[in-house]
Amino acid sequence: MITFKTKNKLNLTDQQVLIIEAKNHQTIASFSESQNNGIQNAIENKKSTIVLNDGSNIIVVVLVYDDLNWKTLEIMRKSGSEICKLMNDNHKESVAIASFNDKLSLSLVEGIALSNYQFLKYKTGKKIKHNSLKEICFIGKLITDHQINQLKVIIESTYIARDLVNEPQSFLNALQLSEEFKSIGKKSGFKVDVWSEPKISAQKMGGLLAVNKGSKIPPTFSILEHHPKNAKNKKPIVLVGKGIVYDTGGLSLKPTPQSMDFMKCDMAGSAVVAGVMNAVAELNLPLHVVGLVPATDNWIGENSYAPGDVITMYSGTTVEVMNTDAEGRLVLADALHYAKKLKPELVIDFATLTGAAVRAIGPYASALMGTADDKVKSNLFESSYEVYERLIEFPLWDDYADELKSEIADMTNLGKGEGGQISAAKFLEHFTDYPWLHIDIAGTAFNHAAKTYNPHGGTGVGVRLMINFLFKQIDALTKKTIKK
Ligand SMILES: [Zn+2]
Repeated sequence: MITFKTKNKLNLTDQQVLIIEAKNHQTIASFSESQNNGIQNAIENKKSTIVLNDGSNIIVVVLVYDDLNWKTLEIMRKSGSEICKLMNDNHKESVAIASFNDKLSLSLVEGIALSNYQFLKYKTGKKIKHNSLKEICFIGKLITDHQINQLKVIIESTYIARDLVNEPQSFLNALQLSEEFKSIGKKSGFKVDVWSEPKISAQKMGGLLAVNKGSKIPPTFSILEHHPKNAKNKKPIVLVGKGIVYDTGGLSLKPTPQSMDFMKCDMAGSAVVAGVMNAVAELNLPLHVVGLVPATDNWIGENSYAPGDVITMYSGTTVEVMNTDAEGRLVLADALHYAKKLKPELVIDFATLTGAAVRAIGPYASALMGTADDKVKSNLFESSYEVYERLIEFPLWDDYADELKSEIADMTNLGKGEGGQISAAKFLEHFTDYPWLHIDIAGTAFNHAAKTYNPHGGTGVGVRLMINFLFKQIDALTKKTIKK
């Protein structure tokens, strides 16, 4: 993990990044004529980054053309990604950032730090290329210690989610996932209660138990909780994450290429919950937040559940299983039913749930559906642009619920046509009685190739989104209190 610092002045020998407003650009006295000409040229050509190598140290000028908005912040992150590569390619350990605006600076550094992520646990031998970059230094007093700490926690929490997604099921089975929650909770300070198989059976969590039937490893149900004395919400915000640590599809077996070969990522929803809970506890946010993770693999074995089976869910609803690969909704439904007991203010679930979501929008946005009110949705959309983890909303029309009708049970687990991301959400909606949002991250949780500041593998999508959104919830609750 990269460290962040502040210092008063740039040294001449620093690797340095200068963020400059293009329209107010004036000749920089300490630069040579050719360097100043280079900057002028870049402005005329509307380039956003220009590298001015000066002997041993690297100087990068980042040019800002527009007012501060979500697009400018994203340009900063992307420039950060280029700067990260440049520093590592040149074996530099430290870089100093000078800027005229704190938000631009923070986004640029977020881009550098997110890009500097590596997952090297399973590499051996001398050829391992550790990134050289270890330290980022903010120049001047623009950035407060509070902002630095927030940034550090946001990066660390995204790394946690990425690490969990990148771990294969040969290490990260359902039992290990709950151990990981315990160790993250111990370090950052949230409570973890893990239900093991006997309790899950006694509670009759039929969805989770059915999916687990083909597995050699028992399921877990993890309850993560941050409940500070100064919580501003009377009813908790509940985050639910799909924890299918590996998805073969079950008897409705998946093909291998571009499918089962990356299904270790089918617990990415639970990785979001772990990352966000880490941030909530590390920052000691004045919010009561509960995380719920139903976890198992979806394996094949002599006891596997089969298409045509009828199972009784935790809620008592009977479900005719039409496809064992539509397992995520079965485990999530049991967690969503459990959430009713908590009388939540809001429940948000994260799940790599459907290929339909990927077909609908590609890898550029996550699919949002749900019953929470417009104010909550508009805050979430605002966050989604601010952190550039975009969302697209699909309707929750009852036509899609009609597709789930069964001749012999209360419902089936599979829609009939296209728009499968919506019939999946309609299935989940059946198990809720509170304001609820469902975020399908099937297209965004895993990169098959590195893309700017998101590496190959787990992206950690959802973590920065939720942290930003929870900040907004705290603001809204604080305003409410003041009004009284
Ligand atoms: Zn599946």
